[in-house]
Amino acid sequence: MDFIALPKIELHAHLTGSISRQTLHEIWLTKKAAGQTDLEDPLAVIPEGKHDYNLVAFFPLFSKYIYALLTDEASIRHATTAVLQSFLQDGVVYLELRTTPRPTPLLSAAQYVDILLSTISGFEEQNPRLHTRLILSVDRRHDYEMAASVLDLAVETSEGGYAARHAMVVGLDLCGDPSARPSGEISLFTPIFEKARAANLGITLHFAEIQASASKAELETLLSWRPRRLGHVIWEDEETKKEIERRKDELCLELCLSCNVHAGMVEGGFEGHHFGGWRRVEGVKVSLGTDDVGIFGSPLSNEYRLAAQHFHLDNRQICALAREGIDFIFGGEVEKERLRRIMWDEHSC
Ligand SMILES: [Zn+2]
Repeated sequence: MDFIALPKIELHAHLTGSISRQTLHEIWLTKKAAGQTDLEDPLAVIPEGKHDYNLVAFFPLFSKYIYALLTDEASIRHATTAVLQSFLQDGVVYLELRTTPRPTPLLSAAQYVDILLSTISGFEEQNPRLHTRLILSVDRRHDYEMAASVLDLAVETSEGGYAARHAMVVGLDLCGDPSARPSGEISLFTPIFEKARAANLGITLHFAEIQASASKAELETLLSWRPRRLGHVIWEDEETKKEIERRKDELCLELCLSCNVHAGMVEGGFEGHHFGGWRRVEGVKVSLGTDDVGIFGSPLSNEYRLAAQHFHLDNRQICALAREGIDFIFGGEVEKERLRRIMWDEHSC
């Protein structure tokens, strides 16, 4: 099977984690030549071929390094365009990119989001096959005010405010270091996500990336926010499994094979990944995602290849899997229709 030609949708990709080392290197070279950075070469900090970043090494890579490179409009446009190009070349037809809006020394958080939206719109005009929408992320380490400002930005740049543009914000995410705010403390953000729902934003939440963020209290809180999608769901016990199975018509799981295996978040390699367990639960929907292809090095086509290889899925099952996420995208009914057309008619699965 040609996994690149297979039309695919990507619902779990972090913008900054999707930037390739080569692109970071190019941005660094430009800044270095202009005397604008003292940072080390990205190819030395994140060597080509290294993908085994555990969570302890993973988060500082962004806070101490990648964010420090993406401080101005030119570098953010360059990085975003390169990310869109690589998803397009990999056969992705619909992409929901997520990012935590952050101010830089040169830009406000609102300017950062505006640059992303205009870059995405410009790219889509040139490359109409790939439709991209944006999800803004609340970080678990945010305080309430910071999270509320992310929500405000999301509402301002959602459909109502941006109807004239292709690109818009369509959802709110909860992400960040899963060891932050354990034992149900995450309920601090309940009013934020309730307002997001009231504003018709889609809700997707990272859940159970590590044991500390897999408590019953946390699941109850997150489900009370009525998410359409849950990301990772690694540490599921019997009770969690039953709860998710009970909500199988309203929830889709975003599962990330290479990320979880390379980061050592699951045991037993690819065969031991919980994708296999969820595939056996009748009716539970799954969408494969790359999470951070820039770090873990596996494009979406390769994630499908890995699923086929390690879980013995035939072509018909791979095509069915690729289509499963359509009903759970945040991009609206017209977009769902376009995807059904592309993914049913064009590709002879
Ligand atoms: Zn993620």
